[in-house]
Amino acid sequence: MDSVRTSSAPATPIPARVRVLIPLPLSDAYDYAVPEGMTLVPGDIVVVPLGPREVIGVVWDDPTDPAIAASRLRPVLEIVEAPAMTASLRRTIDWVSAYTLAPRGNVLRMALPVSDALGPPRTRVVFAATGLRPAILTDARRRVLAVLEDGFARSTTELAEEAGVSPGVIRGLADAGALAEQAAVRDRPFPDPDPDADAPVLSPAQKAAADDLVARVASDSFSAVLLEGVTGSGKTEVYFEAIATALRAGRSALVLLPEIALTAQWLDRFEARFGVRPAPWHSELPSRERRRVWRMVAEGKAPVVVGARSALFLPFVQLGVLVVDEEHDPSFKQEEGVIYNARDMAVVRARASACPVILSTATPSLETLANVESGRYGHVVLPDRHGVAEMPTVQAIDLRHDTPPRGRWLSPLLEASLRDTVENGEQALLFLNRRGYAPLTLCRTCGHRLQCPHCTAWLVEHRHSARLQCHHCGFSGPRPEKCPSCEDSNSFVACGPGVERLAEELATILPDARVAVMASDTLTGPASVAELVRQVTDHEIDILIGTQVVAKGHHFPMLTLVGVVDADLGLAGGDLRAAERTYQLLAQVSGRAGRAERAGRVLLQTYMPEHPVIHALASGDRAGFMAQEKGARLEHGMPPYGRLVALIVSSTDMAAADRYAQALARQAPRQTGINVLGPAPAPLALLRGRHRRRLLLKAGRDLPVQAIVRDWVARVPAPGTVRLQIDIDPYSFF
Ligand code: ADP
Ligand code: ZN
Ligand code: ZN
Repeated sequence: MDSVRTSSAPATPIPARVRVLIPLPLSDAYDYAVPEGMTLVPGDIVVVPLGPREVIGVVWDDPTDPAIAASRLRPVLEIVEAPAMTASLRRTIDWVSAYTLAPRGNVLRMALPVSDALGPPRTRVVFAATGLRPAILTDARRRVLAVLEDGFARSTTELAEEAGVSPGVIRGLADAGALAEQAAVRDRPFPDPDPDADAPVLSPAQKAAADDLVARVASDSFSAVLLEGVTGSGKTEVYFEAIATALRAGRSALVLLPEIALTAQWLDRFEARFGVRPAPWHSELPSRERRRVWRMVAEGKAPVVVGARSALFLPFVQLGVLVVDEEHDPSFKQEEGVIYNARDMAVVRARASACPVILSTATPSLETLANVESGRYGHVVLPDRHGVAEMPTVQAIDLRHDTPPRGRWLSPLLEASLRDTVENGEQALLFLNRRGYAPLTLCRTCGHRLQCPHCTAWLVEHRHSARLQCHHCGFSGPRPEKCPSCEDSNSFVACGPGVERLAEELATILPDARVAVMASDTLTGPASVAELVRQVTDHEIDILIGTQVVAKGHHFPMLTLVGVVDADLGLAGGDLRAAERTYQLLAQVSGRAGRAERAGRVLLQTYMPEHPVIHALASGDRAGFMAQEKGARLEHGMPPYGRLVALIVSSTDMAAADRYAQALARQAPRQTGINVLGPAPAPLALLRGRHRRRLLLKAGRDLPVQAIVRDWVARVPAPGTVRLQIDIDPYSFF
């Protein structure tokens, strides 16, 4: 009798409802009514009313709230024509929000594209040859028809450019019936990489490592693995095999790189291996290209993406493998907005996507090593450099004994080595992690230091642009004529070196050497990076001076000498990871030397040759150094053996910042295993005109810090004039 319906008076239909998450600073999703005739599933991108506005949102999986009366629900307005957000991305967003305590809407915002990527795919006008010969066949017309012989339709601009004719010629041909207009989708798919285009012959060690990674990809399930190998061991070639396996299985791959703007060489290698370039993703991508990448990823037409952190939130359909190259790199930590570590969230993304994640590095972080030790992550190792290349020799130069002449920064030994290198027809890299000419300008008469008006920071002189700059807020101005304090004129002196000043010194001591500076402010974009890399590769440059942007990835076969001008630079200050980071950075810089036939040499200028970091680099005893670091962290319950959460309070009103920071301290959680330090003025006590105070919560590894912190800050609501940032697992302590 189940088919019999006793229908009485027409029942008022109970409207279906859905939860919609909106990309605004909100943690909760809201209930909306589903209009009749509309069918919605989680992941659908929709337009909904919010107050007086209409906003984009995503149907979420949260249960709706039956307590909200149906009459109070506003309806979903429309479904946006775009691929629905996958469950794996939705779970990643939930997870990142729960972990970082950032509102879910803020995390969602990172996953939604510029709005014009939504909606139906748009088209553009292209022309194809009809086969009809025009009565008048000029040279220009003949060239256009020749271009089209390959069968690919092209836009007016493309045709005009390729055939070297004016747009009028194309119009004329169309009028004559020789060309026909067609509509083509505007966003071109990315070409399919060929997994077998040009696979190298792997060494036995590479083969063994690749086999492990390939098996993980083939197993179609989540796992995490550390791919550890000295600089130049060929890690890239090895993880390329994992990508090839994913591609053969029809899956996509994502590679996260630090400093995505500097990947010219990486892209070349990818192209050499797979025949085409991957889709790039980073903040400097023009919006047209952003839309194309987002859309193609969502439609499964961008098989490999290489990107910066935020690529984690692209709408991959079938991710087959995720690679984090240089996993230890601090630039994977995003410090603004949603504060998260892309290395860690890559693991979350891989788990949600049921695919492996490969963490590649020559200098694994203690966090990753702890995960290997506990068995959570697998471990494959490449112990030697590829081919005949040997690891460079590393030697410390004690600046107390081998002192540079007054007003100079290169010790006699380093100067002589540079000269020898250039005379031998080889190349050198001078590393100094300081942009500009001089980090400090002071008045010789009264000692006044030129400081940023908005930050607790000195102004850095840039001779190149003839300005003083604040590296924290972007403030810049010309050097003042007179000292603002004693009004003496021409009394300023530049103190200390930046990369520009080293270039000046080289011009004095090695006037014939061809020198170039590579720093983030001397590079205007990917094209200028590529050009500089080409100049170095083609040996048009003898000595490259660079900041940390040169440390990563580059492979210059003729580069045999690396001189680190100030190896102590990163060791000052009480940063938890100062030693580990300095070690990683200097090991990476050192790794640029001697990557081909010619042996490499590294000279580290230091005032502390006995410091464990310098000692470890010079003796090659990384294991010993890491064991010592680990011991110290264990002893003090510091990460990864304990947990930290930083609370940063800031306000333009100093008293308000202080009051709120103290209120937080009074309400601090008091339970065993928890320790709250502060408030204290941040090292950058003033940043962009805001006064900053810091509190630091230290907790045992096993405590639920997110819940503890959430309860804590909920007890002390921030006044409107004060901003509170929560930094789970802080990396910087400025
Ligand atoms: P890493 O990333 O470990 O520092 P790379 O992947 O950059 O090392 O490799 C160092 C150099 O050795 C590169 O020029 C690379 O092309 C080359 N190389 C690595 N493996 C092979 C191989 N199996 N066959 C040929 N060249 C290789
Ligand atoms: Zn003065
Ligand atoms: Zn400033």
